[in-house]
Amino acid sequence: MHFFCNRVFFWLITFVSLNAIGQDLLFQSYDCRDEIEIMAQLEKEKILKELAVLDSIERIQKEEEERLLAEFLKPYRVDTLSLWKDWSFVENYSFGKNRGGIPMITELNALHPYFRDKVYLLIQKCKAKGIDLAVVESYRTRAKQSEYKSMGKKYTRSGAGKSKHQYGLAIDVVPIVNGEAQWHNKYLWKRIGVIGEQLGLRWGGRWRSLYDPGHFEWTGGLSSQDLAVGKLPIIPKVKSYPCINYDLQLLSIYWENWEAEQASYAKTSQVK
Ligand SMILES: [Zn+2]
Repeated sequence: MHFFCNRVFFWLITFVSLNAIGQDLLFQSYDCRDEIEIMAQLEKEKILKELAVLDSIERIQKEEEERLLAEFLKPYRVDTLSLWKDWSFVENYSFGKNRGGIPMITELNALHPYFRDKVYLLIQKCKAKGIDLAVVESYRTRAKQSEYKSMGKKYTRSGAGKSKHQYGLAIDVVPIVNGEAQWHNKYLWKRIGVIGEQLGLRWGGRWRSLYDPGHFEWTGGLSSQDLAVGKLPIIPKVKSYPCINYDLQLLSIYWENWEAEQASYAKTSQVK
C-alpha cells in the first residue's frame, strides 16, 4: 500500500510538473493579447478599406449627381440675379446710323415676356418670308432715352420715361440684305409692317410725324402716362404666362442694373 501510494504520488508530481513545463513552453512566447491586437488592426484596416470604397462610390455618385444637376440647370442659370450682365447690346453705328454713344440693348429677354414672344414671332415669320431682321434696340434706359432726346427731334419725340422702350414694350428692328441694314427699302418695310400688325403689334411705319418703320410696340391699350405711373398691361393669354409677376419683378431689377450701368457711362463720357 505504501509503495502504491508512493507511485501515485510520484506520477502525480511528474504529471503536474510536466504539465506545468509543457504549459510554460507552449504559452511562454504566446500572448493572446497580441492576437487580439492584430485582429483589431486587421479589422480596422478592413473597415477603413470598406469605408474608402464607400467613400469613392459616394464621391463618384455625388459628382455624377452634381454634373447631371448642372446639365439640367444650364438653360435656367443658377445665378439669376446677374443675368442682366449677359444681355446682348450693340455699339453706336452697328447698323450704319448714328444712334449716340451709349450702347443699345438688343436682348429680347429684356422685353416684357408677352411682347418678347410677339417679337420673336415677328422675326421668325419674316425669316420664313426670306427677310432677315436685326434687332437694333429692345429695352431702353432713361439715360439712353435722354441721349436721344438731346440728339434732336429726328431721334425721338419723347423724353426720359415716355418711350415704350423703357417698359420693355417696344423694339426697333431693321432688315438686313447682304450684311447691310436696309433703312430706306420701303417695299421691305411694308412687308415687315404687315406681319407685325397681323401679330397685333403697333407699327411705327404708320406714324406721320415721326415715320419710324423699324419700331413695333404693344401696350395692351395703355398710354405712356399709364405706364409712367406703374400700370401694367393686361395679357390676353395670361395662362400661358404663369410666372409673369415674378418675371416682371426680375426684369425691373435687371432694368435698374442697366440704368445704373448706362447712367455711369453717360457721366464718364460727358467728362471726356
Ligand atoms: Zn423704337
